[in-house]
Amino acid sequence: MTDIDAHRVVIVGGGAGGLELAAKLGRKFGPNHVWLVDKADGHIWKPSLHEVAAGTLDIHREGLSYFMLAKDCGFTFIFGELESMDRQQNQLFLKPVCSPGTREEIFPARSIRYDTLVLAVGSKSNFFSTPGAAEFAIALDSTEEAERFRQRLLHQLVTADRRKLAEPGYVLDIGIVGGGATGVELAAELLEACADAAFYGLNKLQPGTDIRITLLEGSGRILSALPEKMSAAAQQLLLDRGVVVKTSVRISEVRQDVLIDSEGRQYPVDLCVWAAGIEAPGFLKNLGLEVNRINQVVVDAGLRTSDPDIYAMGDCAQAPWHGSEAQQALPARAQVAHQQADFLLAAMAKRIRGGADAGERTFRFRDYGSLVSVGHSRGVGSLMGVLSGKNWFVEGLLARLMYMSLHLMHHLAVLGPLRTGSLALGRLLTKRGAPRVKLH
Ligand SMILES: Cc1cc2nc3c(=O)[nH]c(=O)nc-3n(C[C@H](O)[C@H](O)[C@H](O)COP(=O)(O)OP(=O)(O)OC[C@H]3O[C@@H](n4cnc5c(N)ncnc54)[C@H](O)[C@@H]3O)c2cc1C
Repeated sequence: MTDIDAHRVVIVGGGAGGLELAAKLGRKFGPNHVWLVDKADGHIWKPSLHEVAAGTLDIHREGLSYFMLAKDCGFTFIFGELESMDRQQNQLFLKPVCSPGTREEIFPARSIRYDTLVLAVGSKSNFFSTPGAAEFAIALDSTEEAERFRQRLLHQLVTADRRKLAEPGYVLDIGIVGGGATGVELAAELLEACADAAFYGLNKLQPGTDIRITLLEGSGRILSALPEKMSAAAQQLLLDRGVVVKTSVRISEVRQDVLIDSEGRQYPVDLCVWAAGIEAPGFLKNLGLEVNRINQVVVDAGLRTSDPDIYAMGDCAQAPWHGSEAQQALPARAQVAHQQADFLLAAMAKRIRGGADAGERTFRFRDYGSLVSVGHSRGVGSLMGVLSGKNWFVEGLLARLMYMSLHLMHHLAVLGPLRTGSLALGRLLTKRGAPRVKLH
């Protein structure tokens, strides 16, 4: 079969869900049938971005090259950003790829044919049109932004001693808007990173006294989507470590050095992270497919859009939560994207073999519970008992270890057991020769 004859499945977005689908499908059908498009050339599991931002995880060691993954897993990788498409001609149009520094063109604008398309482009932070938010706050949507935050944090930590001498009573203020899993995990990670920076002699600041981390949440409790017991445990852990937690606070304006809430109260900030909600990328609105108010493509229980050749999965899709009480949509979580990748394997295999997907299968999300990391040795979680169907509360090192195993499972799905094992061992050994936090 020539490349032209091969039924081509193009997956756009190589994140938590799309990459797992491409890897599993590629191993089965090979690079003529399976194509992956991503706007980045390296993959990182998005739930680790708060560690990149804090400097406790080095993107240059953790990131995986898509070109390497394509070779290993048997798919074709195309480096480029999807901009628009012609659904009548089954064509995707990619923007030119330019070098970040010089803006020199690396790849020209291209078009790609697809027979089946899977949209897996994830989500980004939703600023809810808050004045100043896009300009002054950093959102942890990509490795570039997480790295930008890390460099600004490092700069603040290095210059803090000097500022403290010049301004008596100076406190380094870090504001985090949004007390969901991202905000909570980032607050805990930053505490440890700031302590590590002082340990290595970058400054003489005392976290908790000279550094103030303020977590601002709009609803009545942090981790509001998770069980109350988890919220209370996570809040206590953060308070014990000196994080200031403010609930029922809606930020209505962001300025360079201050956050202002809807009551007019002000919160000084040297650095601000925005983690207060998500929306899918804006270009999805222009494809002629049905989207919801946060740009997610509406799909049926088989993850099919209104176009029979197009599927959507993960954060960029609004999929029905089969079996949920109030006809809810599935939450934007890595666990959902992971399970949807497994689900779509069969439909994609059928289409590659020349069959049609009549939508007879229903995606049923199996909720195993949620885990939140609250630092390197602590976590809190609520796990769904497999036999009992009840929620089990876990905390401490056990919860943290279980949390780490989620990342391992993603690597296993993408790299297979041998490479995952050697990578984990390699990282363990190199960690011994590196500082606990990235200092350059
Ligand atoms: C800091 C942080 C912590 C989190 N922690 C947790 C957690 O503990 N547990 C949990 O379940 N979830 C967590 N999440 C949410 C989780 O990361 C997402 O639900 C999950 O990554 C969604 O997977 P996805 O495949 O839909 O999209 P993503 O993993 O976001 O991948 C999308 C991919 O699409 C690519 N892309 C985007 N636009 C284009 C385009 N136009 N053209 C080509 N490529 C494109 C991107 O480069 C990216 O590779 C966290 C998120 C963040 C930011």
